[in-house]
Amino acid sequence: MTRTVYVNGEYLPEGEAKVSIFDRGFLFADGVYEVTSVLGGKLIDFAGHAKRLERSLNELDMRNPISSDDLLEVHRELVRANEITDGMIYLQITRGAAADRDFAFPGDDVEPTIVLFTQSKPGLADSPAAKVGIKVISIADERWGRRDIKTVQLLYPSMGKMMAKAAGCDDAWMVEDGAVTEGTSNNAYIVKGDTIITRHLGNEILHGITRAAVLRFAREAQMKVEERAFTIDEAMGADEAFITSASTFVMPVVEVDGTAIGTGKPGPVAARLREIYLEESRKAAV
Ligand code: PLP
Repeated sequence: MTRTVYVNGEYLPEGEAKVSIFDRGFLFADGVYEVTSVLGGKLIDFAGHAKRLERSLNELDMRNPISSDDLLEVHRELVRANEITDGMIYLQITRGAAADRDFAFPGDDVEPTIVLFTQSKPGLADSPAAKVGIKVISIADERWGRRDIKTVQLLYPSMGKMMAKAAGCDDAWMVEDGAVTEGTSNNAYIVKGDTIITRHLGNEILHGITRAAVLRFAREAQMKVEERAFTIDEAMGADEAFITSASTFVMPVVEVDGTAIGTGKPGPVAARLREIYLEESRKAAV
């Protein structure tokens, strides 16, 4: 099926959608993005993603070309036109295409570029990986210093995924100054006793929308949460580990650098949080 995509105010078949070769997203990775999941034809935590988008744009002094209400309508129209039951909506906004390549930002006369497309993933919430867990390796965190901004500079995370794949694993946890920052495209957690431990917010990690929801649900369920840095050694000695992201929800991690975590099987805390997260998010979906 040919997808209908959204480019700068128009809905088009994917093969007809075009962006300039001078687009700053292409030339400078001068752009931001969001990924919102769709379950049962509805958007999970749209408001959270729209808010973070606004923040990313503000931090980069980039104009937002669309209101939050219109953005919701575009998301919904793409879900409808592409008959998405479960999947993701990818959104990217760049600083647009100036007349020529220039490091300096263009003036306000240059319109930002906005692109959205859908990715259909039937059964997204029933991923077989959630039943067996994933394996991670640790790698140095060699990204830039403003990881709290969701930019399209994803080369190092892509390289991290390839390093994980080469090691027969699923993902990489990045380490800086001896402590885990996050996964290549997800936030990282360990569980020790009855405490859930995940890195505190700062410029070193992306402020995950799923992270915020999961920590809220955990606290509501009277679970203990500690927001602080942890090491790979601590992860190896933990009872459980997991990751969160918009497309994986809560995903157990059963091995790090070849060492089994806890029993080497998905643990009860991750399973419970996944269940609560999916249930509550479906209820609140729009
Ligand atoms: N950390 C990084 C580096 C990411 O790329 C992502 C998602 O893409 C996340 C964390 C998780 O964020 P969210 O829960 O908003 O998807």
